[in-house]
Amino acid sequence: MTVVVLPGDGIGPEVTAAATRVLSELAPDVDLEEHQFGAAAIRAAGTPLPDDTLSACRSAQAVLKGPVGDPEFDAAEVRPEQGLLRLRSELGVYANLRPARADGIDLVIVRELVGGLYYGERGVRPDGTVYDTCEYHPDQVERILRHGFELARSREGRLTSVDKANVLDTSRLWRRTAHRLAEEYPDVALTDMLVDNAAMQLATAPGQFDVVVTDNMFGDILSDLAAAVTGGLGLAPSASLSDHGPGLFEPVHGSAPDIAGHGIANPAAMLLSVALLLEHGLHRPDDAAALAGAVEHAVTAAPTPDLGGSAGTDEFASAVRGALQLTRG
Ligand code: NAD
Repeated sequence: MTVVVLPGDGIGPEVTAAATRVLSELAPDVDLEEHQFGAAAIRAAGTPLPDDTLSACRSAQAVLKGPVGDPEFDAAEVRPEQGLLRLRSELGVYANLRPARADGIDLVIVRELVGGLYYGERGVRPDGTVYDTCEYHPDQVERILRHGFELARSREGRLTSVDKANVLDTSRLWRRTAHRLAEEYPDVALTDMLVDNAAMQLATAPGQFDVVVTDNMFGDILSDLAAAVTGGLGLAPSASLSDHGPGLFEPVHGSAPDIAGHGIANPAAMLLSVALLLEHGLHRPDDAAALAGAVEHAVTAAPTPDLGGSAGTDEFASAVRGALQLTRG
């Protein structure tokens, strides 16, 4: 079994080092193969996603990715972020899972990642009007909703399908499909919720949610809101999954150039991405749960500056490793 590791840029290598150390201790049978990606790859090979990196990712069990991005390339023609968009589409990872946990809150947002408004036809009309279009094929809607139902079935059995069916035709397709699939999942309680109400509910009563499934743009916005109400970017992991190939596991935050090299980056989001990798990429739910619990412990025992504490990256990671030994007796 091979996991490809892409350390990325800025704080990427710092949080990745903490994460790979824990992963290699938890899963000593797994080979970790590091490859160049992002700004580091542009400097070395002229492209953010070199061919050998992509082919290694394709044949791996899973890909663990640090954030990419470097101010040096912000205005350049070849940018690190282009490699990320290409990697996601090359791996066909259409289901983006964003868990958010805090006291009394344990929810997962399942966001459609490769369709909708971000991928529809766009352009400029002769009169200067600029347009983007939201398009969904019924198969795209069905496969992501199925993902939501399956995940809800493996958790508390509650699925909230978020749409804007009072206005949008794509949302009406979404809602029809959700109700058709609900007949196949009698053990899952389906609730429809309009996206504006979902935003308010997430901000005011996030504890009510188990699994939330929604389209690309709604998911983009709601998942950041869910991260905000559960401790911020430093704690937000993600998993992007396809049906058959390797998944891509990465923190939601960026390369944080303002704190890179200071040893104070919070590695929690990266470590929680490793937990998702253990669960969804390597199918080791017990190790995943142990790691998630250890990170939760470290958030209180050794908080980094973004969490209001003064621990460095290494100190936080040590607290996680210590808690893992404790929980494993
Ligand atoms: P950012 O997430 O890098 O930083 C936003 C703020 O949060 C900064 O103040 C930063 O110090 C802080 N922060 C982020 N992660 C942290 C952590 N783990 N610990 C402590 N503090 C943390 O967002 P940005 O500044 O808008 O973007 C910087 C670069 O990252 C850009 O080049 C952007 O394109 C890239 N980016 C990459 C990804 C990705 O690889 N998936 C995602 C978002 C942004």
